[in-house]
Amino acid sequence: MKKSVFIFIIVSILFSFNCLYAQSEVSVEHSSINGFFRIADKLASGIEPIEEEWNDWFETQGYKICIAETFDERDLFTRKAMDLTLNQAKVGQRDSIMNIPVTDIVSDWESLLIRVILQNFMDIKENRSAITEQFQTINYKQWLADAGNRLKNFLVNPVDSLISPIPVSILCMEPDALIISVIIAWDCKFFYKQTEEERIDMLAHEMFHAYRKHFVDESKAPGFIKLIYLWQNEGIVDLIDKKSASDLSSAFIRYGLPQSYVDSYDDIYQSTPQTIKELEKLTLSFIHNEISEKEFNSKVSGFIQFGGHPNTYYMTTLIKNAGFEKELISTFDSPVEFMKLYNKSIAKEYRLNDEFMNYLEKTKLPTNGAHYKASEVQRNATLRK
Ligand SMILES: [Zn+2]
Repeated sequence: MKKSVFIFIIVSILFSFNCLYAQSEVSVEHSSINGFFRIADKLASGIEPIEEEWNDWFETQGYKICIAETFDERDLFTRKAMDLTLNQAKVGQRDSIMNIPVTDIVSDWESLLIRVILQNFMDIKENRSAITEQFQTINYKQWLADAGNRLKNFLVNPVDSLISPIPVSILCMEPDALIISVIIAWDCKFFYKQTEEERIDMLAHEMFHAYRKHFVDESKAPGFIKLIYLWQNEGIVDLIDKKSASDLSSAFIRYGLPQSYVDSYDDIYQSTPQTIKELEKLTLSFIHNEISEKEFNSKVSGFIQFGGHPNTYYMTTLIKNAGFEKELISTFDSPVEFMKLYNKSIAKEYRLNDEFMNYLEKTKLPTNGAHYKASEVQRNATLRK
């Protein structure tokens, strides 16, 4: 091979590496926002957008992944909320949904979601220019570096090569941020209302979820273990981005959520010991063959409210206050250790009994094999230091 050709190939390879690296570093996209306002303008003028326009909007990166991977009919939910927000003929219907207290629909996720998305879309419509202007100033590189630093305190091995940047897609949805396979979907109004510190903490929160996925495959777990995995996963990250229950309540109001949302969240938070007692009772009924596995799993899924956050934030706050934060982090992939820590941290609340704990310990737990073993070596080495 000629020397010049060889040099050309090497330079090309280096250049393409640089491009890839640059792409992953600077990666916040908000193509879905323009689509929102395009459709909003039509609906506000009394024109129904044609199917192709809806489809084009839902083909933008954030929606495409959200629609494919969050829940069925997200596109229909979004269309319904858009129509209710902007169609003058539907003011009465809109007002009646907005007047429903969240406390009345907290167990009905569809009604709760449409109520929350509708409120959010109305706020996005009101704050149009401020919301669109904010994207000019995002420094993803700095944001990512700050989030990485925040995350380090919550990892057994803070220099783990499995920590990687994740692209952010900003769109209009419920006021939340969600990690979905290869992206973090971030609501634009939620982003707009957050302080810089909250955005950093939230990115660290989502990066932790992505990191933990290398070790645990919750999708293969039996129902009640899946719930405990969820509690453990969200509980650890809740310590990253939440300061206290009262701070969280005032943040919800700042994000534009109604007082009834805060009240429901707080009720679920406060009744965590009761919820855990009920989980134990249900599990024992299953162990004693009083209910079928199908019934057990379906009832367990009813324990997940507000994504499991109020219950698990209660649990990890208790664990932290009892002085076991380090143990919580070092056993981040074991639901058994998580419940043991909860039991150890309890002062006056309900303690899970031995039969439940023994059953939990005997249940086969799914892990992501190779990564888990490799990391065990690293983790043990780090723990010994
Ligand atoms: Zn989370």
